[in-house]
Amino acid sequence: MPTIFTKIINGEIPCFKVAEDENFLAFLDINPNAKGHTLCIPKKEVNKILDLDEETYVQLMLFSRKVGKALEKTVDCKRVGMSVIGLEVPHVHVHLIPLNEMKEATFQHKVKLSNEELAELAEAIGAKVE
Ligand code: 5GP
Repeated sequence: MPTIFTKIINGEIPCFKVAEDENFLAFLDINPNAKGHTLCIPKKEVNKILDLDEETYVQLMLFSRKVGKALEKTVDCKRVGMSVIGLEVPHVHVHLIPLNEMKEATFQHKVKLSNEELAELAEAIGAKVE
């Protein structure tokens, strides 16, 4: 059974897309720890990050770096944190989280944004991806 993220890649489930290339997709997390919380995923469906082939692993990090830099320019934050968890969705993803306080890195602090805000945010971050 395909993961929810594969369904997003295939356009079966909507997302607020930030950036995309042939092999990777970045989109806003549906239940963000902070404004701008973004997920970067390989289109190849692999459960655990350490099981990615070396090439995909390195390319995912480079893609996440590019998106993270755009995020840092868009959202007011001290820094963009990166984490990999994967306990909820068994499809590799890098969390990019704009951080001002430690609680935003804990996945227990959540923020609510309207669909309009999310759409604007995704577009603004995406426009800064180089
Ligand atoms: P993890 O697997 O790293 O523990 O967390 C999965 C993350 O994916 C969570 O932050 C959760 O909010 C996010 N997520 C789960 N389902 C969806 C979805 O359908 N769309 C989006 N955009 N994010 C999702």
